[in-house]
Amino acid sequence: MGPPGAGKGTIASRVCKKLGIAHIATGDLLRKEIGLGSKFGKKAGPIMNKGELVADKLVTEVLRKRLAEEKGGGFILDGYPRTLKQVDLLEGLLHELGVKLDAVFYTSASEDTIVERIGNRRQCSKCSSIYNLTTMPPKDASKCDKCGAELFQREDDKPELVRKRLQIYKEKTEPIIDYYSENRLLREVDCNGLLEENMKNVYARLEEFETSKE
Ligand code: ADP
Ligand code: ZN
Repeated sequence: MGPPGAGKGTIASRVCKKLGIAHIATGDLLRKEIGLGSKFGKKAGPIMNKGELVADKLVTEVLRKRLAEEKGGGFILDGYPRTLKQVDLLEGLLHELGVKLDAVFYTSASEDTIVERIGNRRQCSKCSSIYNLTTMPPKDASKCDKCGAELFQREDDKPELVRKRLQIYKEKTEPIIDYYSENRLLREVDCNGLLEENMKNVYARLEEFETSKE
């Protein structure tokens, strides 16, 4: 977890690739439902475009559906839980699956970093890969390096909505960080630097955690 724009999506997808585990991002799952025009998507779309949080029950249903496809290889949840209610709901989901959270990674970044990064963020319309026009530019400004599909700027990445999302993050999501810190699952990683630097910090914390588990 971490504020919008801290880089958690990019970091999670790299870690998952390296560890060979699944990357489950609720934002991407919801955008997929919108693309499909499903009943979930129809409800979530207008709320996401306003930069607000989708109802806890709805996002949890979408996540439950995705988790049901998991075969036990492990996964990183990206963007969930985001409210204290979702912390509770997640406990239930994990219990159903018979798995436990190993750790909670917290990608921290300052407000200035966040606003700058989000303004330059572009995402692939097909494979959800993320680019940054200044720090991680695609070869062709409008196309995905990996699959060639069109890149777009998310509606909620426009500046007015970024401030609003940060506000909601502070109000609803920060209390969860305190919660996971108290129960000792939290691993904070400074993500104000360039991606490669941040990745080094992430891997260092990951190693620490893997040795302490033994
Ligand atoms: P970011 O982390 O940059 O905000 P995401 O792709 O994770 O981007 O989320 C985009 C939007 O999807 C959120 O602003 C919210 O509307 C919705 N969303 C994603 N995950 C959740 C969640 N766990 N609970 C409620 N809404 C969510
Ligand atoms: Zn792509």
